[in-house]
Amino acid sequence: MHQIADAPLQTSVGARWRISQGCGSGRPEGYLILSSDGSDRGVIMETLTKIPFSADTDALMKQAHVEAGSDDAADLAGLIKLAMSCSRPKAAYTVAFIDARDGDTVQIGGCLFTSRALSRKLESVERVFPVIATCGREMDEVFDAKGDMVKEYWWDLIKTHALSAAQQELGDHLRRKFRLGTTVIMRPGSGDAAMWPIEQQKELFALMGDAVPGTGVILMESFLMMPNKTTSGILFQAEKDFRTCEVCHRDTCQSRQAPFNKELWGTLQHE
Ligand code: SF4
Repeated sequence: MHQIADAPLQTSVGARWRISQGCGSGRPEGYLILSSDGSDRGVIMETLTKIPFSADTDALMKQAHVEAGSDDAADLAGLIKLAMSCSRPKAAYTVAFIDARDGDTVQIGGCLFTSRALSRKLESVERVFPVIATCGREMDEVFDAKGDMVKEYWWDLIKTHALSAAQQELGDHLRRKFRLGTTVIMRPGSGDAAMWPIEQQKELFALMGDAVPGTGVILMESFLMMPNKTTSGILFQAEKDFRTCEVCHRDTCQSRQAPFNKELWGTLQHE
């Protein structure tokens, strides 16, 4: 039977106790959900809902190859204004601990992940932070130019900026709150497919448990997420920086953050 932790309840409005189901390990688990301005006593799960987002109009115009003063510029500015009035980027995290690991798997909070890359990278780590960040589904609800491919592309760009704001806030929050140094984040489906298969989103979402609903994110059968500008993963403190781009062969990716590292790839791939 699950039990609720007995830490003193000193929270802001909106804070509430929940019981975790996790991956069905059956071990006692309890946690407190807080709004971003709540107390941190006893917290092992938190949803950040007040994330500041200010779209950078100049950067968006440049990214969209839109000329200042043109009709397109006026249309894009209108979309940016709409986004600024409705967007609610969100993020959430839980705190989890490694139960067991071997060369190809790692069990975290009762959830089994099969990924040599993840298992190796967590070799000397005990505590991890399963995380989710999203542009927020409010942006999908107000967009009324569906079918207009150009505007859909612009809207996606703005959503990407909102997602970046959520990722930045989440990372800063965790580093500040838990006094983390260098952090690394690994995501199912990121890098070469075999590094950490996207299907393991299922286990990751199970591990996140009740942290997910507060973000409004839905995991679909394809293991992609809605809204489309959402990321999930496991963040942890590491001695050395690591980007999954280092073990990704995709050479046409415009979002690449680090060059491919053949030697590292060789040590992390499954046989
Ligand atoms: S190179 Fe691109 S596709 Fe590959 S992990 Fe990096 S961002 Fe993702």
